[in-house]
Amino acid sequence: MSRNRKQAALTKKSRNLKDFTYDELLDLVSGLGEKPYRAAQLYGWFFKKGARAIDEMTDISKVFRNTLKQGSYYIGLPALTGTKHSGDGTVKLLFELEDRERIESVLIPEEKRLTLCVSTQAGCALGCSFCMTGMYGPGRNLILSEMTGEVHVATGLVKEGLLKDIKRITNVVLMGMGEPLANYEEVLKFINVLTDPKGLGFSSGKVTVSTAGLTPGIKRLGRDASVNLAVSLNATTDQVRSQIMPINKKYPLGGLLAALMAYPLRRGKRITIEYVLMKDLNDTPEDARRLARLLRGIPTKINLIALNPPPGSPFKRPETECIGAFRKILMEAHYDVIVRASRGSDIMAACGQLRGREQKALTGKGA
Ligand code: SAH
Ligand code: SF4
Repeated sequence: MSRNRKQAALTKKSRNLKDFTYDELLDLVSGLGEKPYRAAQLYGWFFKKGARAIDEMTDISKVFRNTLKQGSYYIGLPALTGTKHSGDGTVKLLFELEDRERIESVLIPEEKRLTLCVSTQAGCALGCSFCMTGMYGPGRNLILSEMTGEVHVATGLVKEGLLKDIKRITNVVLMGMGEPLANYEEVLKFINVLTDPKGLGFSSGKVTVSTAGLTPGIKRLGRDASVNLAVSLNATTDQVRSQIMPINKKYPLGGLLAALMAYPLRRGKRITIEYVLMKDLNDTPEDARRLARLLRGIPTKINLIALNPPPGSPFKRPETECIGAFRKILMEAHYDVIVRASRGSDIMAACGQLRGREQKALTGKGA
């Protein structure tokens, strides 16, 4: 079958069972004349036992398996096309999707944690001028099976010893390629599967959604989920923020900060403020003082990240002393501040360096 026909067949007729929410799966099994417990059985096979094909689900009757196959249902996962290991222990996973789009996820081992950073889009339309994903332009929304697929494949690799002694992913951050809240519906389904004990089973306190500040999406997320929220603030005035993050023209700082102030947090939880420091642009003592004023009253912890300058970027990373001085001002204003180490920059896996397209060079494939 030609590639186009195969794709048409896949998109028009076949359905990846892992794109069904639990409720949709219940409807599907009852529509096929099966008892509701079949949905739980299928879910268990997808998310606990890691089934990769219908015939692996051996305690499901052959008749029902055949019904599923004849109905053109299948179990699909993103294809892992490579892994890249950084000198600091970070590992980047490269994936090709059914339509040959490419995405990346990153495994970041820290002391007691292993964090998986997942992509939610195959690019990003928001075009922040300091971010490589944004520089490479928009990409389509990822669907449920693709996002759970990133977790599934990464979990399998970790179990098999990819990171030697570390055998379990403890945290998931939606902080890879793309803007999660610009893909709201599928991301919400993904969060539900991630935090469903019948699904991937992460506690919602171990899941973080990072956004460039889509104010309406933040309000919705506050109503729909109880995961952690991280906001990429990156500037303290509308003028500078709009210059580096065009989305600020649509959702300026005033409304964004009001949404953060109103965000329903579970007890003891705080919003993470991400602030990428860029030399002479947003790194002055005046910026630090303004940031302290802007965040007053919002329960936050602040992550300062020194810019990983994209190639040809006009922006530069500040000097270490300057980062220290910025941090000190915030600490003196009683904020919790950490300077986040840039992990995986030698393999282009650090914040803002994911772009998917890199794999063309690695594999020689692609347009
Ligand atoms: N779109 C979402 C999540 C993906 S970006 C968001 O913007 O929050 C993840 C993080 O990488 C953001 O905090 C962003 O500010 C940061 N980032 C982007 N480009 C960067 C760069 N060149 N150096 C350091 N951090 C960067
Ligand atoms: Fe998109 Fe986030 Fe990069 Fe901005 S920083 S371009 S929102 S991925």
